[in-house]
Amino acid sequence: MMPVDTAESIILSYARSLSSAQDLEYVPLMQAIGRVLGRAVESVLDFPHWDNSAMDGYAVRFQEVEHASPASPVVLRIAGDIPAGSVPTLALAPGEAARILTGSMMPIGADTVVMQEKTERIVGSDQLRLTEAPPELGHFVRHRGRFYTAGDRLLSPGLVLGGAELAVLAAAQILSVPVFRRVRVGVLSTGNELIQPHETLRPGQIVDSNQVALVALLQQAGVEAVALGQVQDDRKMLKSAMKKAIEQCEVVISSGGVSVGDYDYVEDLLEELGGTIQVRSIAIKPGKPLTFATFGQTLYFGLPGNPVSALVTFWRFVLPAIKKCSGQSSDWGPHWTRATSPIALTADGRRESYLWGILDRSNYAEPVPTFRVAAGSGSSGNLINLAGSNALAVIPIGTQSIEAGDPLQVMVLPD
Ligand code: AMP
Ligand code: MG
Repeated sequence: MMPVDTAESIILSYARSLSSAQDLEYVPLMQAIGRVLGRAVESVLDFPHWDNSAMDGYAVRFQEVEHASPASPVVLRIAGDIPAGSVPTLALAPGEAARILTGSMMPIGADTVVMQEKTERIVGSDQLRLTEAPPELGHFVRHRGRFYTAGDRLLSPGLVLGGAELAVLAAAQILSVPVFRRVRVGVLSTGNELIQPHETLRPGQIVDSNQVALVALLQQAGVEAVALGQVQDDRKMLKSAMKKAIEQCEVVISSGGVSVGDYDYVEDLLEELGGTIQVRSIAIKPGKPLTFATFGQTLYFGLPGNPVSALVTFWRFVLPAIKKCSGQSSDWGPHWTRATSPIALTADGRRESYLWGILDRSNYAEPVPTFRVAAGSGSSGNLINLAGSNALAVIPIGTQSIEAGDPLQVMVLPD
């Protein structure tokens, strides 16, 4: 049995990232959410585009107000208004200020903004009185190009586009976004006992829940998920289904048929088909029989059939590899946090054990979040209580119990 972290690094080492120009496609800005940026994006504009005010207030000449104080107030004439979105037509003459709003362009002749709250408009007149000097020249002015200048890199390739990234692209007026194409991932279920969710369940049969779960999780991960259906535990049929899957897809995920049972052919067939088995048994519970093979650059994950094992191994090993394949430059996951459990958590200590439950991160004041193990967690036959879980607590090899309140390593499941 291979340690979990060894298996993880072997799997990641074979996951080749999209990176070439052929892997690019262009999508409209509004459809780019969740996609991986395929090329660096440079600004064609300066940010800000022009000198503008950071406050509602008055644009002034610093030199004229730098000694303002209650004892010697400075009085300026208000030469006009500059609403946001307008180009100022006025130029400040000596002794003048201009009313300015946040984001408005600075008028010619002004170099500093005094916030409205620090001024006093003399009632019934166009006079402004200042009894306090602005702290420095250029105060509350956002200068053109202060954040970015044209030609600067705004976003780097490999970044997953979220709301903030789309806002940057929108501000830079990039309407067509270069993203990596979606990686093609096939999902195959194996087992004579399986039926599809719409079929009538007969005694001895099991509904193929893995296909639904895996396809959905892959879609959520932004790849092109291909549901390849179910195949019997029949060497010939399975071999041909696996062969087709390997030819059609860049990553293949099958579930079932990887244990040591009489009908578990996946591992043999991977070798017969010319694959190289890189990982065949991992010291993890649930999920020990996971088999990982490569066919050149094509990755094959033979997940255990047990639905809990299939999901846990998908989250732990498959999803990070898929994120890497998709061109994401970092943060492939899993994501970890420290937590504490209000009750002792136990395991057999022979394999790294993953217990599912709910991590409560909603309490702002609590420095370490609480993990509440689901009732029946650890029994890999129990799929139902995996639903609603958002985290997996890890009990390392050699540890049989983590006491209540002791530090606990928790893997956060993707939202
Ligand atoms: P296997 O790994 O093929 O020995 O399967 C282990 C257990 O998982 C058996 O109880 C199977 O019936 C069940 N199982 C296998 N494949 C699936 C699937 N696609 N969906 C739900 N359960 C499955
Ligand atoms: Mg089976």
